[in-house]
Amino acid sequence: MKGFASYHNHSVWSDGGDTIEAMLAACAEAGLDEAGLSDHYGFYPGPPQDWSMRRERLPDYLAVLASLRDASGRLQVRTGLEIDYFPDTFDQTREALAAVEVDYLIGSVHFVGGFPVDAASSWWEALSQERIDEVWRAYLGLIRDMAATRFFDFVGHLDLPKKYGFRPEADLSGEILATLNAIAEAGMAMEINTAGMHLPAGQVYPEPWILAEARQREIPILINADAHRAAHVTRSFEAAAGLAHAAGYTHLARYHHRERSAVPLP
Ligand SMILES: [Zn+2]
Ligand SMILES: [Zn+2]
Repeated sequence: MKGFASYHNHSVWSDGGDTIEAMLAACAEAGLDEAGLSDHYGFYPGPPQDWSMRRERLPDYLAVLASLRDASGRLQVRTGLEIDYFPDTFDQTREALAAVEVDYLIGSVHFVGGFPVDAASSWWEALSQERIDEVWRAYLGLIRDMAATRFFDFVGHLDLPKKYGFRPEADLSGEILATLNAIAEAGMAMEINTAGMHLPAGQVYPEPWILAEARQREIPILINADAHRAAHVTRSFEAAAGLAHAAGYTHLARYHHRERSAVPLP
């Protein structure tokens, strides 16, 4: 696993199953030289959600990561958060994070209005194909809005609505390209997220043709596992690297204090 980093990981501080310490130990054991946690944080426009960190715990989460940063030997520990983008609460999010020091912020959309895109297949099964297409369209619009804020470092799981295999019937390629344009314009990177390979979607997020278009637009990439268990912190990284090479990529992005750098793609 030399040359890889693993930045999109969840611990028991949000909806993961293992401690921060266990996640980082697995990263060190895999031979990574750099790794970070990205527990869920955000302002859900409703009652608190148990998959997301309680906001008052953020200082303690940062303190735990800071203490491990100094005690993890060869492994460079990075501090991240996966932020849920909600247009209605974005100002609160920005304000809450204004003075918070992290290495990177992942911008993700998990909800379209009140519809949870990645919660359960049953939510999708209840939709007509027309509604499925509408959810996809609205989701892509939210990604564009999120990019336009220029607040986040990289986009999480770009085509997440495919998670349970519910794909649009309408041709949304134009909207997907417009979304990539918005990401490029905002100077954001995006991840190849390998979790999709192990779900009904059956492939990484985003799918290969989108990756090739991202390369055309010089959108930097990372390879991440979206691990919720220590055993998954580098899952399918070699396969993702193969896809990145095939799309023409030569480097992976890394972050330190929200400054991006590039390392050769393994
Ligand atoms: Zn996510
Ligand atoms: Zn995640």
